[in-house]
Amino acid sequence: MTITESGSAQFIQVRNPADDTVVGRVPVDTSETVAAKVRALRRAQSQWEAIGAKGRKRWLSRLQDWVLDNAESINDVVQSETGKSRVDASFEPMVTVDLLNYWSRKAPKFLADRRSRAHGPLGMAKRLETFYRPYPVVGVITPWNFPFLAPTFDVIPALAAGAAVLLKPSEVTPLAAIELARGWAEIGAPPVLEVATGYGETGAALVDSVDYVQFTGSTATGRSVAQQCAGRLIPYSLELGGKDPAIVLADADLDRAANGIAWGGLFNAGQVCISIERVYVEEPVYDEFVAKLARNVAELRVGQDTREAKFDVGALATTAQREIVQRHVDEAVAAGATALVGGAPTGVGTFFEPTILTGVDQSMSCIREETFGPTLPVVRVRDEQEAIALANDSRYGLSATVWTRDKGRGRRIARQLDAGAVNINDAFSNVFNFVLPMGGWKESGIGARWGGQSGILKYCRQQAITTPRIPTQERELIWYPYAPSKVRFALGVIRAAAAKGRRRLGVGPRRVANDAP
Ligand code: NDP
Repeated sequence: MTITESGSAQFIQVRNPADDTVVGRVPVDTSETVAAKVRALRRAQSQWEAIGAKGRKRWLSRLQDWVLDNAESINDVVQSETGKSRVDASFEPMVTVDLLNYWSRKAPKFLADRRSRAHGPLGMAKRLETFYRPYPVVGVITPWNFPFLAPTFDVIPALAAGAAVLLKPSEVTPLAAIELARGWAEIGAPPVLEVATGYGETGAALVDSVDYVQFTGSTATGRSVAQQCAGRLIPYSLELGGKDPAIVLADADLDRAANGIAWGGLFNAGQVCISIERVYVEEPVYDEFVAKLARNVAELRVGQDTREAKFDVGALATTAQREIVQRHVDEAVAAGATALVGGAPTGVGTFFEPTILTGVDQSMSCIREETFGPTLPVVRVRDEQEAIALANDSRYGLSATVWTRDKGRGRRIARQLDAGAVNINDAFSNVFNFVLPMGGWKESGIGARWGGQSGILKYCRQQAITTPRIPTQERELIWYPYAPSKVRFALGVIRAAAAKGRRRLGVGPRRVANDAP
C-alpha cells in the first residue's frame, strides 16, 4: 500500500500477512534516486575492485560475523514481513553464513589470473593470459519468498567478484534487504552495497542504469527484464518460476519419500521456486504412498509463530498468493479431484491449509501453472516411462526429484528429465551445494547461479592479454607489406599443425585453394 507524506514523497507500508499489522515503511525510489545510487556505487567500485579478492574476503568475513551475531533479529524481521514460521525464517541467516564462508574463501582462487598454453605453434611465442574484471555495478532484483536469503544468494558472489551491488527487493518484503545493507554499513565496509525500494518501476529503473542484471522472480517479469536488458545490450541471468515434479517409483523407501515430499512441497508454505508441485507415483505403491503422505500432512501445525517455534507452516506472503492457491484447488475439485487433506484457507490472515489433491490429471491448473503455495497434487502413473513423459510435459524446467532404492535407476531417469537439477531421494539438496549450478531450463530461466567458479565468473568480463615471450622483429610474417612466401610459410605452419590426414597436409595458400573438397 502506498502512502504519500511530506509533500510528494511516497512510501510503501509493509504489513505482516499473518495478522495484517503494519511492520514498517520504505520510500518509493524514483528513477532519479536509482540513477544517483548507481552513480555513487560506480564511484566506490573501483577501490573495491582494487583491494582484490583477499581484501574483499576480510569484509565478507566481518559481514559473516555480523549475520551470526544478529541472526535472531534478522529472523524477527523476516517473520514480520512474511508471516513465515520461525523455523522457516531461521534458514535465511544461516544459509547466508554458509554462502559468505564459501564465496569469501574461494573467490581468490576462482578469480586468479589464468595462464594458458598455446593450442598451436603460432601462439607458442606468446604469453597467453585471461584476467577477470567485474561488471562495475550489478543489479540484483529479488522476490518476496526469502527476503533475506534470496538477496544474499546473488549479492555475495557479486560483491566477492569485485562488483558494487544495487539490490531491489520486492515491494512486499523490503525490510530484510534493508537489514542486510544496515549490517554492511555497521561493519564499516566500503559503500558498494545499496538498496533501492519501490515497485516494479524502481526495478525497471535499476535495469536502466546497471551493467549486469541478476533477476529472480516470475517468468512474466523475467521476460520483460530480458527485453529491457537486450535493448541496452547488457548481460543478465534469470532465475524464474518452476513446477517441479517428484517421481515416486515402486521400489522407493515410501516412508522417506512421504517425509521428503511433504517437506519439499510445503516448506515455506510452498512458496519456494523449487517446491515440489506435482507428484507422480507408480501404480503399485500409489495407495500406500498417498496414505503415508496424508498422515504426514494432516499432522502439520499451521499458524503464526513468535520467537518460539510452535508451527510448521506459516502464512502466505500476500492475499493475491492465497487467491491463486484457492483457485488451483477449486478448479481441480470442480474438475473431479479430491482434497484429501486441507483445501481451504484457515480463515486467519493469509494462512492456507496444507493440501493434498488426488484424482488429479495433467490438464488441471494445479499441474500446469505455478501454484507457489502449500498444495501437493498426486497423480497415479502406469510406469517409469509415463512418469518421465508427464514430468517433462511442462513449460517449466527448474528442478525435480526421483525417489527409488536403485540409485543407478534414479540417475538414469534424472538424465531424461528436462530440468536444471534433479535430487535423488531428497529435495532441495542441490541448493545447499554451491559447487553445483542452480539454473532453470525452458521458461524457468536463463543462466545459472553458483556452480563453483562459474558462479563468480558470471559477474566478470574476461580480458585476454597476450605478451611476446621472445624478442620481436620489425614486423610479423603476416603483416604488410605482404610477402606471399612468408604468408605461405605462416599459413603452412597452421595447416601442418591443424589439418588431419596426410592428403591435406600441403603447404601454403595456393594448395589450399586447389584442394578438392
Ligand atoms: P515478480 O516477478 O512479480 O517480482 C520479482 C521482482 O521483480 C520484485 O522485486 C518486483 O518488484 C520486481 N519487478 C516487477 N516488475 C519489474 C520490472 N518491470 N522490471 C524490473 N523489476 C520488476 O515475482 P514475485 O515477487 O511474485 O516472486 C515469485 C516468483 O519468483 C515465482 O514465480 C517464483 O517461482 C520465482 N522465484 C524463482 C526463484 C529461482 O531461483 N528460480 C527463487 C524464488 C522465486 P515488486 O515486488 O516491487 O513489484
